[in-house]
Amino acid sequence: NHPNHGRIDGRIVIIGFGSIGRGTLPLIERHFSFDRSKLSIIEPSESHAAAIAARGYAHEAVSLTPENYREVLGRLLEPGKGFCVNLSVDTSSLDLMKFCREIGVPYIDTVVEPWAGYYFGTEDNAARTNYALRQAVRDEKAANPGGTTAVSCCGANPGMVSWFVKEALLTLARDTGRDATTPADRAGWAALMRDLGVKGVHIAERDTQVRLEPRPLGAFVNTWSVEGFIAEGFQPAELGWGTFEPWFPENGHRHETGCRAGIWLEQPGANTRVNTWCPTPGPQFGFLVTHNEAISIADYYTVGAPDAPEFRPTCHYAYHPCDDAVLSLHEMFGSNAIQETHHILEVDEITSGIDELGVLLYGHEKNALWFGSRLSNEETKDLAPDQNATALQVSSAVLAGMVWALENPGAGIVETDEMDHARCLEVQRPYLGPVEAHYTDWTPLTDRQSQFPEDLIEDEPWAFRNVLVG
Ligand code: NAD
Repeated sequence: NHPNHGRIDGRIVIIGFGSIGRGTLPLIERHFSFDRSKLSIIEPSESHAAAIAARGYAHEAVSLTPENYREVLGRLLEPGKGFCVNLSVDTSSLDLMKFCREIGVPYIDTVVEPWAGYYFGTEDNAARTNYALRQAVRDEKAANPGGTTAVSCCGANPGMVSWFVKEALLTLARDTGRDATTPADRAGWAALMRDLGVKGVHIAERDTQVRLEPRPLGAFVNTWSVEGFIAEGFQPAELGWGTFEPWFPENGHRHETGCRAGIWLEQPGANTRVNTWCPTPGPQFGFLVTHNEAISIADYYTVGAPDAPEFRPTCHYAYHPCDDAVLSLHEMFGSNAIQETHHILEVDEITSGIDELGVLLYGHEKNALWFGSRLSNEETKDLAPDQNATALQVSSAVLAGMVWALENPGAGIVETDEMDHARCLEVQRPYLGPVEAHYTDWTPLTDRQSQFPEDLIEDEPWAFRNVLVG
């Protein structure tokens, strides 16, 4: 009784068979018709070879590099059909996307990833930002509009959360007695956010998944790519910068070119704490890890000129990863050494917990609204094989993005903000567990302990000064 979302003719290539690749494959098998002999998986790690062989697919055991990607993809794909699903680390999303569009093959990824070595080998911090990585994709879109669809950054976040922002705006419009008609275009969505009085958005996440075995010393444990998390954690903290902000961080930097929607701080994101809120814990610390959606959402909802906007929301990630990952970060920053042992928690070793991932729209007349998925690992086991709750939120977004791309084959390069959020959520929602809206009267000034003086902005509770810890 799983809906078939259509046929993929031609060859399908999945790049990367890590936690997300393994989770996405069964959804592709379940929801599309395709010729199994035409699906191949590019995966350099030998540790995944048996899993690929067991599923009966062709395995290309190579690392894609700037030197070989055209040859390898050119050999495995057929021009004008099929699909390229990029779920790897250390491959340039921009180069792969450009090549796929050149040969007319639809493409999707979940992050704007650079080639290996970029994150740690680039001296200039501004160049290591997601702003810079995203802007390169936006520049390519502007230089070559239209053409074969390539969906950029379509995971849970970035990805699904952009669809949640739209659903949350419509919910807020309804709940405040306003017109809740779906806006027809970007300008309409931006005007709706402005008119609702939304000042900003946290991508507010709490992952409570745990296993019985305590984290061993010297191991980085997470619920998705350890390599990916460490790489983004060492990038500068970054956020979309709202027009309402009354203060500017001393170590903050703006960008001179591009969409101008974001700023970056002279400190690593995974060592930068913010005050935020999720339904299960209530108030909590999150890490201000840089993410594409912090910039894309601030950009999409801008009203007016990029360099002198009338309205723009603040937007950033506020991530409380699973407890083992919090300890792993603490150990990593404290020791100034990246752990050699990496472990992603498997669905069957997790004993309890949920991934609560949503958007917290704040500053409006109902104060703050969290809208998101509260998917448990237990429920995940019933919904789809080979993944934990975190991976299912990502893989089901990839599924939705693929369906949208097949239904919109000539849309060019798109971000999830630019896609039909209702259609995408229709495809994805069966995999998200409870999807709920929660209002809260919490603000970053609520219950601040008062024994020590703090540099706060009392008349603007949502000012980033109050959100930022320290
Ligand atoms: P993972 O670390 O489990 O797997 C990544 C895989 O890529 C590995 O199996 C690795 O061998 C492979 N790989 C490494 N270098 C490669 C190369 N040069 N060519 C081809 N393959 C290569 O990671 P994951 O958890 O599966 O995540 C995959 C990607 O998805 C990462 O980029 C991650 O940042 C992204 N992600 C996005 C979201 C989101 O919500 N948007 C969430 C989780 C992960």
